[in-house]
Amino acid sequence: MSTDTPASSDFRSKFLFEDLAIRGEIVRLEATVAEVLGKHDYPTQLQALLGEALVAAALLTGTLKFEGLLILQAKGEGPLNLLMAECSNGGQLRAIARWDGTLPDEPLANLLGGGMSHLAITIDPANGQRYQGIVPLDGLSLAECIEHYFAQSEQLGTRLWLVTGGGRAAGILLQELPEAGGARRDADAWNRVCRLTDTLTAQELLGLPTETVLNRLYHQEDVRLFDAEPLAFACSCSDARTRNALRSLGATELRSILDEQGQIDITCEFCNQRRTYTPADLPDLL
Ligand SMILES: [Zn+2]
Repeated sequence: MSTDTPASSDFRSKFLFEDLAIRGEIVRLEATVAEVLGKHDYPTQLQALLGEALVAAALLTGTLKFEGLLILQAKGEGPLNLLMAECSNGGQLRAIARWDGTLPDEPLANLLGGGMSHLAITIDPANGQRYQGIVPLDGLSLAECIEHYFAQSEQLGTRLWLVTGGGRAAGILLQELPEAGGARRDADAWNRVCRLTDTLTAQELLGLPTETVLNRLYHQEDVRLFDAEPLAFACSCSDARTRNALRSLGATELRSILDEQGQIDITCEFCNQRRTYTPADLPDLL
């Protein structure tokens, strides 16, 4: 097992059970959580859910085998309208939630509006077709909802553990790998490794070094730990993208807004960056 300690407070570490057809990832976020929660005055339950969504997006992006973006989106018509987190394969994360009024202390699906709510996972490759999978939000927690998503869309077992606390968010993902030849050498391996992972406390996952977590859980297994990959908050908004969005409104609409308001102010919800466009920008926008 490698003894590298990640330099960044925010990282993803992948690991592999050498003798079992199982892979895993650990993600821990602190600076990213602070950045995201600092942008809006989020209620307490949403702070925890945003932390979980960020970790889940980072874990799921770790399963991608190509360059691109993964977007996790939970939508509904309840007091919580939207919970969204995005991670690029380069480890750039951003997240947002939209809500109305006071949030009751209820599970995610109830906050989003019970039967009307759903979870969408969008994979947006740098080269290739965008793919979106949607499942009803029928789990009690975000982790369970994502597990249901995998149960519906993939043959391979996938489990997630997501925790938050003390300004941090962390998670573990385990995934079965297809085995050469089909037959398993160790039929109970998946259940055994999942049961071991269930014994980890939130405090341990949030606080202990990755090597210690893996030793504590799987000391009887041969686990290979790969170098940690840094994760960080970054917003993909830009002046060019905002101008493209404005162009799509069309000349008549743009002229009418500018006539009425004198300028167009656009604030990015993810990073609070504000951009202002005036009639002087019209030639470029038309
Ligand atoms: Zn932005």
